[in-house]
Amino acid sequence: MTNFRRQFNDLAKYGLIAAWLLYAANPALAGNATADLQQSVIPNDDVAPLELLGATIMPGTTQRLSWSATELFEGVPVSTPVLVVNGASPGPTLCLTAAIHGDELNGIEIVRRVLHEIDPEKLSGTIIGVPIVNVQGFRRGSRYLPDRRDLNRYFPGNSNGSAASRIAHSFFTHIIEKCDALIDLHTGSFERSNLPQIRADLRDPDIVTLTQGFGSMVVVHSAPTDGTLRDAATRAGIPTVTLEAGGPLQLELNEVTHGVKGIETLISTLGMIRKIGLWGDPGPVYYRSSWVRVNNGGILLADVSLGSTVRQGDLLGTITDPMSNASTELRSPYSGRIIGMARNQVVMPGFAAFHIGIQSNAISTDTIDDAIPGLSHDESDEHVGGMSE
Ligand SMILES: [Zn+2]
Repeated sequence: MTNFRRQFNDLAKYGLIAAWLLYAANPALAGNATADLQQSVIPNDDVAPLELLGATIMPGTTQRLSWSATELFEGVPVSTPVLVVNGASPGPTLCLTAAIHGDELNGIEIVRRVLHEIDPEKLSGTIIGVPIVNVQGFRRGSRYLPDRRDLNRYFPGNSNGSAASRIAHSFFTHIIEKCDALIDLHTGSFERSNLPQIRADLRDPDIVTLTQGFGSMVVVHSAPTDGTLRDAATRAGIPTVTLEAGGPLQLELNEVTHGVKGIETLISTLGMIRKIGLWGDPGPVYYRSSWVRVNNGGILLADVSLGSTVRQGDLLGTITDPMSNASTELRSPYSGRIIGMARNQVVMPGFAAFHIGIQSNAISTDTIDDAIPGLSHDESDEHVGGMSE
């Protein structure tokens, strides 16, 4: 998918040329007004209306559309809003999707905030936001579709398949295929919470390019699971990352704010909006990661919090047997940072409790668990019991 990378590189290149020209003309102006020239470098004369879901969205306007997969369960169409900001100037189409799992609320608010803060007159390119993809799950406060299927295992879908597969197919063909790049928003699942982070397949150079636009975000290498939207979109040539923030069934303002900041930085890095002081932003921090599992059942109480830095041997939490009152300590096998963790709860032996990120100096696609003999791929890194994405 060189199209996106070419656009990205062009925008970066034009930005540099524009900054250099501006600096040559008047050094005092450089640094805070480069976007004007950057905009003028991009030709304005091939701005086209966007055709989406049967509607025509003119450049420089915002529209609220609705998408509904046909043939739904009770024969009653269930529609979900699709927010479109079509910029006055040309540029890439960036898509944001949230609540493919209906109980993941933070992403809904992140999409709302990002879309409603953008002025179409000042935008180069298009942003398409779908805050609630799984509207049926959302209404029931459930991760799943009404037939207990996980929608995020059925992409790109099939028009003759199961209900989940048909919904996935409709969504993929009507919306996702219009995107040049995609951010799919999720939270932890099953009583677990994630530090705001980007999950990305760092073996793909286009996706690495995309991760570099988010500013100072935690980036964790993760090969996509089959059937996820990230997997299908990437296979279709659309560079895609997952943005994880917080846990399910809650609206967490710190996580929402962090996610909005990361996406707005990306929009700015892509040259889609102007932002003063952009070039001073620090880059992403790359992590390898591994889950720490409990070996005893009981009540898990954590001694660390999300984002904590831990050293090898530090206490992560205790597991207490409510009958015998016997308590065991869970200590970190690694030095690193807590990038995901379980809420306090009753656990069984083998439960994945703490996700430790280990900062790497270079972009690395190794997983730490590769060293554990006999562990299948599904048990390694973040693929823990249907975790998150
Ligand atoms: Zn999810």
